[in-house]
Amino acid sequence: MLLADFIRDGAARLEKLYPSPEARGLVLMLCRELLGVTNYTHVVEPRTAVPEERLPELEAALARLCAGEPIQYVLGVAEFCDRRFVVGPGVLVPRPETELLVAEAVRTLQEMELDRAPRVLDLCTGSGCIAWSIALDIRDAEVIGVDVSETALDYARKQFPQGPSFIQADVLDTEQAFPYGPFDLVVSNPPYVLERERTQMRPNVLDWEPDLALFVPDDDPLRFYRAVARWAQRFLRPGGVGLVEINEALGPETAEVFRAAGFKNVRNLPDFYQKDRFVRFQTPDNQAINN
Ligand code: GLN
Repeated sequence: MLLADFIRDGAARLEKLYPSPEARGLVLMLCRELLGVTNYTHVVEPRTAVPEERLPELEAALARLCAGEPIQYVLGVAEFCDRRFVVGPGVLVPRPETELLVAEAVRTLQEMELDRAPRVLDLCTGSGCIAWSIALDIRDAEVIGVDVSETALDYARKQFPQGPSFIQADVLDTEQAFPYGPFDLVVSNPPYVLERERTQMRPNVLDWEPDLALFVPDDDPLRFYRAVARWAQRFLRPGGVGLVEINEALGPETAEVFRAAGFKNVRNLPDFYQKDRFVRFQTPDNQAINN
């Protein structure tokens, strides 16, 4: 089969599920990853064929995409902050906006100009994409990632040879013993999608990605932020900084959780679309908040 035909037919099948440019983009990505061709090989070399013996594998991957499975699960990798992370069922696929959180985290640590290794705590670490990106960008950083899901931690632990430590713990259990502090920076991208927002989400997310990583109850959407605030009260050093990703619809309310918990310089930060996507907060300079 000609590569051009595979791409055209594949895109047509995927258009039942995805807008046309995206459907085509997905098939191109599949061919790039599995065949090592470029996005334009089939245009500049129209006679390029898909090797017969590779067709079953490509067909199987296409069938999974047609069933709505995220391409990152099908390929087993997701790109994040210019690195490739291993992902699959049971772990949230890293999102582009979360790269902004990493950039802000790295900038924050650099501006601290510490004369020792910075210490970072990542709550609800999932695939570990935030923890690893910080650890790999700030070479001597000591990073600890926490998650309740053993499945997620299995992914997190095997991403790269050497980096963060990963610990199994329920972030909502805020008073547990945790003998690893203090930290200079606490980061978190916890679940923040409301149950009632399900209807606006696409099947490739809803049917495939873990509910545990995505959803919070409609009547208590800020529960993870209260928990993160408590962890930060216990383990962030004086002058330390916190950064969390948030639901764009709850910017002021989420910021208020951190103000009420005694943090200073609390502000919302925007994503690519100028929506409130993050909250940044700081422990007062001379005192840890440890009430
Ligand atoms: N931004 C993600 C989404 O909308 C949600 C991530 C999260 O809940 N932390 O799919």
